[in-house]
Amino acid sequence: MRRKRQRRLLNQKLKRSDKMVKKTYVCRECKMFTTEKECPNCKSRDLSASWKGLVIINKVEDSEVAKLLEIDKPGKYALFVG
Ligand SMILES: [Zn+2]
Repeated sequence: MRRKRQRRLLNQKLKRSDKMVKKTYVCRECKMFTTEKECPNCKSRDLSASWKGLVIINKVEDSEVAKLLEIDKPGKYALFVG
């Protein structure tokens, strides 16, 4: 009995780690990274798996890059989306 329960717990752990390895997509609308089927920022479902360059914006106000990319929220963004 005890052993069965342990195995079940182990299986649950394995399943959970499977979910961690998700494909990364980039939103075509706002270029934010996501592992979901929907953009967490603008809720767009127009996502691309093909992207180049990565930029992390911490402070939108101080960032020239953020201005250039028209980013208004801190986060992880791609430079080019295919
Ligand atoms: Zn978006």
